[in-house]
Amino acid sequence: MSDSFLPSMRVDGQVALITGAGRGIGKGCALALAEAGADVILMSRTESELDVVATQVEKLGQSAQKIVCDVSDGAAIRNHIGTIGHLDILVNNAGILRPSSLLDLSEDDLDTMLQVNCRGAVLVAQAAAEIMTRQGSGVIVNMSSTFGVNGRANNSVYSATKHFIEGFTKSTAIELAPFGIRVAAVGPTAIDTPLTHDRLNDPAIGGDLLSRIPMGRFGQISDVVGAVVFLASPAAALVSGTTLMVDGGWTAQ
Ligand code: NAD
Repeated sequence: MSDSFLPSMRVDGQVALITGAGRGIGKGCALALAEAGADVILMSRTESELDVVATQVEKLGQSAQKIVCDVSDGAAIRNHIGTIGHLDILVNNAGILRPSSLLDLSEDDLDTMLQVNCRGAVLVAQAAAEIMTRQGSGVIVNMSSTFGVNGRANNSVYSATKHFIEGFTKSTAIELAPFGIRVAAVGPTAIDTPLTHDRLNDPAIGGDLLSRIPMGRFGQISDVVGAVVFLASPAAALVSGTTLMVDGGWTAQ
């Protein structure tokens, strides 16, 4: 028996499915989990982006399977995930942001954010949980946001979809615990990714966001993936039903 008191953040030999894995935070999670020893299944809508990530994963010595799919397409999700034999980790990350005031909000923006951020997250978690309950083990890490905890003007629907993720995380953590499955979330502040790059560099928007972050900087993708790998790993064996904020202190205020 080992004398070590240091719990492991390695996930050697495990299989991880990451949605929205083509770029940004999802790509970072896929590469970090591969570096931590997992074989990865990359899901996103854009095959060319997945090709690039898969090549990088293989260079790390792990296998990469690609699934080109829209997370809000229930039949496709069940079909694809149904063919996966074993799944240890789901990073439920795919999401979109369409900022708008309530008065200017279009039905298309409303429906798309609900479809991807809420419906998609549930459909993927449901299909993953079916495998994990059979196994009696697994971890689901959902991607929330600072705006899953705080409100934000001109982002009411996006913020509401992330509050949905918070409730979904807590409730599924309770429901799936008897099956040996943990469910947790990560709550990033503004992270510099393709989704946000232009907005963060717009002084009118970026300046206000920055002023709300006590640590005085925007997040990098590496800030988020550390939290995701921790939550997915044996080091977080008793962490469930909670959100790990990666927000430089924003929501502490
Ligand atoms: P991004 O736009 O850089 O990447 C999103 C990825 O999701 C892309 O690969 C895209 O193809 C994929 N995707 C989008 N819609 C999809 C769909 N319907 N089906 C399948 N794949 C789809 O975004 P990001 O900044 O990396 O954000 C990832 C997650 O982190 C999102 O849930 C977002 O809400 C959350 N988040 C981001 C920030 C930030 O500042 N970037 C902050 C807090 C939370």
